[in-house]
Amino acid sequence: MICQDCKSALPDLLLDPAAAANRAAREHMESCAQCREEFRELEATFALLDAWQAPEPSPYFDQKLAVQLREAAAEPPAGWFERVKTRLMFNTGRQFRPAMAGALALVLLVGGGTFADLSLGHHQATPQVSATVNDLRIIDTNDQALQTMDMLLQDDGSTNNTTTAMPPRS
Ligand SMILES: [Zn+2]
Repeated sequence: MICQDCKSALPDLLLDPAAAANRAAREHMESCAQCREEFRELEATFALLDAWQAPEPSPYFDQKLAVQLREAAAEPPAGWFERVKTRLMFNTGRQFRPAMAGALALVLLVGGGTFADLSLGHHQATPQVSATVNDLRIIDTNDQALQTMDMLLQDDGSTNNTTTAMPPRS
């Protein structure tokens, strides 16, 4: 067994040291100080995770969520940006994605904070939306945009065939 294989087997080894499938990794570790050290570090990390406790939600979490839900239910239907975003996120027509990813990246790079204002522009017309809720929504919007970017970038690798087959239009 080589070190690379041993390292990928380390999590299994940690969870079930006696398993027959882990025999090769155990034997390799006996003769390889580097992998032994790696295993020791992994063990220490898992020990830390065992001791870690998830933090409690902030005291006003429920109230904030309730207010946000009420306001979301009362507000007018989503504007064009929301619709484009939804389409982008759930669209299965992958051929549009590289172009949209580029456009979104450009908006994020050039716009930064303005990007969030763009999507919230129509909300600000409704006066009952509180500042806190607006902040929460901006964070949420940016988060979703980043997730979408991640998805698109991951997709890029698998859709290379289709994108290279079509020459770019200029
Ligand atoms: Zn090794």
